[in-house]
Amino acid sequence: MLIGAHVGVSGGYPQSIDYAESVGCEAIQIFAKSPQQWRAKPTGPEVAAAFRERRAASSIAFVCTHTAYLINLGSEDDALWERSWRALADELARAAMLGANATVTHTGTNRSGSLEVGARRIAEGIRLAFQEAPEGVLLLENTAGAGTTFGTGPEELGAVLGMLDADWSERLGVCLDSCHAHAAGWDLSSADGWGAFTEGLETCCGRGRIQVVHANDSTFGLGARKDRHAWVGDGTIGRDGFAAMFAQHRLASAAAIVEVSGDVPEKDETNVTRLKELREASSARE
Ligand SMILES: [Zn+2]
Ligand SMILES: [Zn+2]
Repeated sequence: MLIGAHVGVSGGYPQSIDYAESVGCEAIQIFAKSPQQWRAKPTGPEVAAAFRERRAASSIAFVCTHTAYLINLGSEDDALWERSWRALADELARAAMLGANATVTHTGTNRSGSLEVGARRIAEGIRLAFQEAPEGVLLLENTAGAGTTFGTGPEELGAVLGMLDADWSERLGVCLDSCHAHAAGWDLSSADGWGAFTEGLETCCGRGRIQVVHANDSTFGLGARKDRHAWVGDGTIGRDGFAAMFAQHRLASAAAIVEVSGDVPEKDETNVTRLKELREASSARE
């Protein structure tokens, strides 16, 4: 697995690569626009070209973007739903300009009470966004299962993918967030939990679908349904849990990206180093 972190771009896109290399990243996640707002000025072609050029000359082997949090492809409100799929298309276009390998998104809510109805609404939103934005791989992220959020488990993500795969299977994949899965009840402090969750994803979503792991530890306990990320090894997944992640063959080609709060550069240096130590220990055992 490649290892990296979500890095800020407020100092400039090319500069985010300098920062990422300085803290030891091999892969990064960035926001292609402000995550808290619908509107943002367009990504400039010069800025995008400078980013692609800097990245090509760097040791960063994988770049993904993460969509804005406002996007809700499951919304029952038609205006919000349309705004969401149009925003998703815009995110995909920006990611393509930046030369990103993939874009991670949360799917949204499902108030219908029916997996089928919720999945269909979300799939239809993705279909429209894909028609508008002809390029880019989209990874659907699992959620912690709070409230009416959709996408807590493999069945839900697989239902959406299954509705789109006939036309776009090579543009679709999955992002596994370890904090969210643990909070939703899969015990990722253990090898058995990693085995069960990744097997479920493979069964429901297809093989080789997991391209990114958000390697976040969890502040709250197993099944708490609360989404608070902790530094690697400091939460209820713990060091042994992340050691088990590296032993999981289904994740061998995925990039592990940490998304935690704290001061830079310490948080990124520390978490990237911890993951690299665990990966090293895992390969030494093989
Ligand atoms: Zn995440
Ligand atoms: Zn989270």
